[in-house]
Amino acid sequence: MALDLANTIIFRQAPDRAQDRFSNSLEVARFACAAGIFRAGEWGSVNFIPPQSPSGHLNLIELREAINNLFRTAVLEGGFKAQYLSNFLRLASAVIGDSQNEQDFTLPPFAQHRELLLSAGAALSGLNLLDPARLSRIKICPNCHWLYLDESRNRSRRWCDMTVCGNRAKAKRHYDRKGRGHGL
Ligand SMILES: [Zn+2]
Repeated sequence: MALDLANTIIFRQAPDRAQDRFSNSLEVARFACAAGIFRAGEWGSVNFIPPQSPSGHLNLIELREAINNLFRTAVLEGGFKAQYLSNFLRLASAVIGDSQNEQDFTLPPFAQHRELLLSAGAALSGLNLLDPARLSRIKICPNCHWLYLDESRNRSRRWCDMTVCGNRAKAKRHYDRKGRGHGL
């Protein structure tokens, strides 16, 4: 889920093409709802609560960027950089520290249904990804620059989503070959 959050900006590595889904704040609530449904396998039964205030929204964006910097750099350069790890842990700690005391922060998957602020969920998910077994499976999609977890047995996944980015890349290769064949 932490990676899904980072992926709310598409084409991150091409600043002129980058698009931020969260520039529309309605999208944050939509994301929170979808994350609970699509990540049920990873989390169990969970409701993510979107930020309730403008400052909560800004904190979420800050955490999103910290998650992106930490894991994208880890994939591109290998290993965690002190600055990014420290920034992520600081923001994660603040989000958890601001929560109510009765909240249970055991890492997912949850045995029982939980309600969790989206930012607290992103912090827990990010902490889960620090595990080297998971970290070594994080990849960057060459088409859309999304971060994704390659859970295939032989780690052979090349795209975030074969049906979207894989097919687009295949079509482009086909076009390039045809183009060259015609001397274009
Ligand atoms: Zn992709």
